[in-house]
Amino acid sequence: MSKMATDHNAVNLSQGFPDFPVSADLIDLVYEGMQKGMNQYAPMPGLLSLREAISHKIEHIYSTETNPDSEITITAGGTQALFAAITALVHEGDEVIMFDPAYDSYDPTIKLNKGIPIHLELKAPLFGINWQEVENSITPKTKLIIINSPYNPTGAVLGKSDLEKLEQIITKHNLYVISDEVYEHIIFEDKPHESILKYPAIYKRGIAIFSFGKTFHATGWKTGYMVAPEEITKELRKMHQFNVFCTNTPVQYGIAKFMDNEENYLPLPQFYQERRDTFAQLLSTSRFEAHNCYGTYFQLFSYDKISNKSDTEMAEWMTKKHGIATIPTSVFYENGAHVNYLRMCFAKSNETLEKAAEILCKI
Ligand code: PMP
Repeated sequence: MSKMATDHNAVNLSQGFPDFPVSADLIDLVYEGMQKGMNQYAPMPGLLSLREAISHKIEHIYSTETNPDSEITITAGGTQALFAAITALVHEGDEVIMFDPAYDSYDPTIKLNKGIPIHLELKAPLFGINWQEVENSITPKTKLIIINSPYNPTGAVLGKSDLEKLEQIITKHNLYVISDEVYEHIIFEDKPHESILKYPAIYKRGIAIFSFGKTFHATGWKTGYMVAPEEITKELRKMHQFNVFCTNTPVQYGIAKFMDNEENYLPLPQFYQERRDTFAQLLSTSRFEAHNCYGTYFQLFSYDKISNKSDTEMAEWMTKKHGIATIPTSVFYENGAHVNYLRMCFAKSNETLEKAAEILCKI
């Protein structure tokens, strides 16, 4: 959709990336790293200074102690962490429970490892997990459950009761959990982020995955990390070592220093909630209907009052005819032919949001 947006000179609310700048202080710190000679390979698990900064943050926010040496690994974004985690855990014939609509890298990575993805569909409007259905889907081959909160593309978030249910299920059936938490700081209405790091019985069998691309508006830097207990981390690092070995050094140096000041990430919920609300306000006279959004920088919109086109046709038509690009949500499903929502990204400057709204209100 981003390519189609460029080809048709459309306002791009499709792919999830901010169009406002990375902090100048952070850029200065990365440059400082380069000037200080931090230009060669980092240690395989990542710069210790960054792993220590992450460990402090986890202790401060989630009250959980993690050992930077043996539990934290810096990756080339959340995507490479997901690849390492799924590849380390999934073997031929293993079943993996995942939820649709889902981030697009889970299913192909499971299949590449000869695993079997079991897609459970989340139902609009709440897109909550039906834990009884999860329990009913478990077989002797089930190895892993993949969760994502805050949830791309639905904007839903998991609550304490979800995590408690998850804890019961994985303990009873001896399953692993991959928890995709790349939007941990983009959560609204004062909801706390329920990281698996807060739940010792889940963390014991879990891998939590994060992305600095989301937190510091720098998706192009492709830097993230995974946190897992020592025994699991040993396996993750085997994948990591022969996949990328390590990720770029000056960015790690800069982020480690930038994290010293928690004001650089703690105000993010407020920052993005304002954007969500501005966009909703601008669209209040449009015929698009917003679904609730409690986290991430995406919101789903129904267009029933406008057209009965499929969502892929609708997204294409809007890009080519009206100059506004969005993402059809059906692509996030194994079988989403019946799904009629568009995902719009509001991680955009006010100018972009105003331009987008002007077009959307006329459709
Ligand atoms: N998980 C989810 C749910 C995402 O939305 C994204 C990015 N779109 C990622 C993982 C990947 O993160 P990164 O860009 O750091 O690879």
